[in-house]
Amino acid sequence: MQEFFCPDPVALHARLRPDSLACVDLASDCRWTYRELDTDIQRAVALLHHEGIDKGDRIAVLARNSVYQIILQQALMRLGAIFVPLNWRLSQQELPHLLKDCTPTILYTDDEVSDLPPGCRSHSLVSFASEFAALDPAPRCLPHSSSDTCIILYTSGTSGMPKGAQLTAQFLLATAMNFNVLGEVDTGCIFLCDTPMFHVIGIVTQIWPPMLRGGTFIVSPGFDAEKTNDRLSDPDFGVTHYFCVPQMAEALRQAPNFEPEGWTKLKALFTGGAPNPAAHIRWWLERGVRMVDGYGMTETGTTLGMPLSRDLLYSKAGAAGLPGPLTTVRLVDEDDQDVPDGEPGEILVFGLNVIAGYWNLPEERKGSFTEDGWIRTGDIGRRDEDGYITIVDRRKDMFISGGENVYPVEIEAVLLEHPAVREVAVIGVPDKRWGEVGRAYVVAAPGQELDQEELARHCQSFIARYKVPKEFRFVDKLPRTGSGKVIKYVLRKEALEVH
Ligand code: ATP
Ligand code: MG
Repeated sequence: MQEFFCPDPVALHARLRPDSLACVDLASDCRWTYRELDTDIQRAVALLHHEGIDKGDRIAVLARNSVYQIILQQALMRLGAIFVPLNWRLSQQELPHLLKDCTPTILYTDDEVSDLPPGCRSHSLVSFASEFAALDPAPRCLPHSSSDTCIILYTSGTSGMPKGAQLTAQFLLATAMNFNVLGEVDTGCIFLCDTPMFHVIGIVTQIWPPMLRGGTFIVSPGFDAEKTNDRLSDPDFGVTHYFCVPQMAEALRQAPNFEPEGWTKLKALFTGGAPNPAAHIRWWLERGVRMVDGYGMTETGTTLGMPLSRDLLYSKAGAAGLPGPLTTVRLVDEDDQDVPDGEPGEILVFGLNVIAGYWNLPEERKGSFTEDGWIRTGDIGRRDEDGYITIVDRRKDMFISGGENVYPVEIEAVLLEHPAVREVAVIGVPDKRWGEVGRAYVVAAPGQELDQEELARHCQSFIARYKVPKEFRFVDKLPRTGSGKVIKYVLRKEALEVH
């Protein structure tokens, strides 16, 4: 791939629109124009120089969202060093594993962390901010290559141990471009950012699109449904774009202060990262909110997105959209042959928005890419005659019942429409007669009684009999990752152990 200069939108907007508001940090109540942000990034470069940080060094962060994380990320990028945001919801076993994997020189954190790997010192992110503020900006260095890794971002760990995806500068730029074109983002945009920065939406998709456009990003330390509802209605914020995972959108509508009529400036509420059932999307559209689903992964950033037309959003609800302009998508069968429209196939992605590889896992790169450089997403999709792609399910979650392929996401969407169901996960379990059959784990909606026969009847009126779960288990909660996704391998493992 041809290399080009390392993109630096903040430096550009510091010249184009120096006095425009770049960002707001809600925790510290500070705000920056583009000129101020650019200068602070150069001050942070001076501090990192002073700390002995060099090209290729890793600097990890374990902290709630803040503009200081963005200043650190941008300063490291200017230095050619690597930013590694870590999930603060990780367990005591997982965190040391990731620290050993990325071997950072410094861990910036708001918490006490024991068990640091050799050669790693820990600093407070708050003192990072006060220390760089006292320095003069460093002289500018020459830009680095756009294909160098600038962020190591661990995948969510939904299907196994998180893997360190190597995000390059061109990945960040391409994701922002894809998002801005599909999401009609302009210079006057104001993004509210409360998806955690250890997730690709948090560190890339809610920040880079407004930054590339010279718009504004308002950073909140973390998601709180009631506060987010208030902020979306607040004319002083004037939020135009909000991007979250479907579970967060669900929390917004469950909160007591949910009044979307007041979100007058909001152009669209974007979701991604997990399935968003068509019925939910229509529910939001009927209440006046454009809910726009999109598809991506840690490894591919923004890949597909729906257009903002209300008619299309309604008629194609459930689809994840069209590929962005810097991305090409194929749907293939097991022999890597393209499948016809309407048929399910694995999604392969090629484009500037694809990672360079997995940190310390060269074998994983071989297994996850075709020889000619397409990444195998492990997701099954279906393309309609207009080119819109719907995500069917993860390949690993599909099961085969009586010779028929069954995709749990379809069954989950049907069950979620039942008023007594709050959360659900379906897996395939071994069965003597059918090979595999579905088992549904269901969490009741508040104050509701669950009834197995009633749920089976409900399913039968929407889907074929072989897809209807043969067994329902009523549970208090589902096992979830730090970003809220159901960890199905835990359910499958449990099912096999007791089988
Ligand atoms: P791991 O790779 O560690 O198992 P993960 O795949 O959940 O975890 P992410 O990169 O955060 O980690 O998530 C990407 C995955 O999320 C996609 O591969 C896909 O399965 C799912 N996903 C993303 N967007 C959508 C969407 N719009 N609809 C359905 N599923 C989606
Ligand atoms: Mg994945």
